[in-house]
Amino acid sequence: MTGVQTCALPIYQLTHLALHDSLTGLASRVLFEDRLSQANARIRRQGGLCAVLLLDLDDFKGVNDAYGHLIGDQLLVGIARRFELVTRRSDTLCRLGGDEFLYLAEGLTSAAEVDEVAERLLDVLTEAFEFSGITLVQHASVGVVVCDGTNSDANQYIQEADVALYEAKRLKKGHHVVFAPSMHEMAVNRFSLAQEMRQALKAGHLSMHYQPIVDLVSTEIIGFEALMRWQHPEQGWIPPNVFIPLAEQSELILELGSFAMHEALAAASSWGRLGDRSDELFVTVNLSAHQFHAPGLLAMIESALSESGLSPQRLIIEITESVALLNAAETTETMSLLMSLGIGVALDDFGTGYSSLSYLALLQPRIIKIDRSFVSPAQESEQHDTLLEAIVSLGLKLNTLMLAEGIETKEQLERLRHLGCQFGQGFLFSRAVPLIDVETMLARSTGTWGKEGLSV
Ligand code: C2E
Ligand code: CA
Ligand code: CA
Repeated sequence: MTGVQTCALPIYQLTHLALHDSLTGLASRVLFEDRLSQANARIRRQGGLCAVLLLDLDDFKGVNDAYGHLIGDQLLVGIARRFELVTRRSDTLCRLGGDEFLYLAEGLTSAAEVDEVAERLLDVLTEAFEFSGITLVQHASVGVVVCDGTNSDANQYIQEADVALYEAKRLKKGHHVVFAPSMHEMAVNRFSLAQEMRQALKAGHLSMHYQPIVDLVSTEIIGFEALMRWQHPEQGWIPPNVFIPLAEQSELILELGSFAMHEALAAASSWGRLGDRSDELFVTVNLSAHQFHAPGLLAMIESALSESGLSPQRLIIEITESVALLNAAETTETMSLLMSLGIGVALDDFGTGYSSLSYLALLQPRIIKIDRSFVSPAQESEQHDTLLEAIVSLGLKLNTLMLAEGIETKEQLERLRHLGCQFGQGFLFSRAVPLIDVETMLARSTGTWGKEGLSV
């Protein structure tokens, strides 16, 4: 006897384990990469085409958080079985890990065929899954790359599929996007922008602007939403929808979030010195989902409150439904802690998430911010109008304050007043302005909104 333990499994079983995913039994990444490099070598020798499809389940984490890992695993297996139903014998289906799958489509004759393959895979997810009485609908986004043998390193195709997947997630979840070389350039630009953002914070190129929130009946300012701005030395103003999602991919969002909170609270406490009325003004600060679930959130808010001396009652935090989607149990706990401090919570972009009603019950926000797409839709339609009416009446029934975003015309203002929506913000009143302009704005009396803004 030696002290060395010998493995009881025969060699063919060990090989099978290395080449297959233990949960779903699908090919492992090792096997997939091998098949891909063989296909690529064949194409480089003989011509032809193949395609790599990278599939990522949309918001899958929510399933694990809501129903536990056992149901999450069952769903992954169920999805694998459905994908298998539409996998051709010549193709390879692999679970890359987590909620990502790879599909290698071989023997294609034209690039257009990849659309069909992607549609076939997405179509099998249309029908809901049922596990232990739970009904789940799970969609996926797909990044696709057509392999014509140009890349000598086959793994580069997987990276390109990943870049295309990023675009699919960004542009339209639940769909597929085919890789184009320009996307690679965009990915490089995103990377360098993310690097520069770190410097921008240190160099003071980031700042907060403030958009007034008004009482729709009196048009009096009741608070401001703090919105971040980046003035890039060469590229000019970079909008937050470009740089916030980039920051969210790393810990940088925590630094940016802390900066926003400290700046906004210091600003709001300075409004208190402008007269009696401004003492009541509140400030709303946007928090991204990642920030909301970070361990130091409360400490960060408390330090900003004590540094600024602002009363917690004058702070409102804006979150979207995606916050609850990340971890429902933790969300309710953090929410009640915030509320016990006197801090308000507003549910942002309401109406754009896919399960608004269940999150309303969970979050019980003080304010609901109706998304701009219902208030100033790109194309006005009766349907939007009916939805707007339904949202406002829902909020009123729940005793929640309703705030309409993106009010651009007097007609929209009148409509909202008529529906009983209490608060609003939008270009009709003012865009977000630098802190220095807030004072001028507050010095004006009710209804005398500046040159571009409302005058009633
Ligand atoms: P949001 O929270 O929904 O902010 C409202 C956006 O709508 C702002 O865009 C605002 O300028 C714009 N807006 C306001 N009124 C109107 C209107 O009448 N018409 C139109 N077309 N737009 C209007 P902005 O400042 O570009 O911010 C975009 C998004 O970036 C914000 O959407 C928010 O999600 C995010 N963001 C901005 N600042 C921060 C921040 O400090 N932290 C985090 N986590 N996110 C931020
Ligand atoms: Ca907001
Ligand atoms: Ca919003």
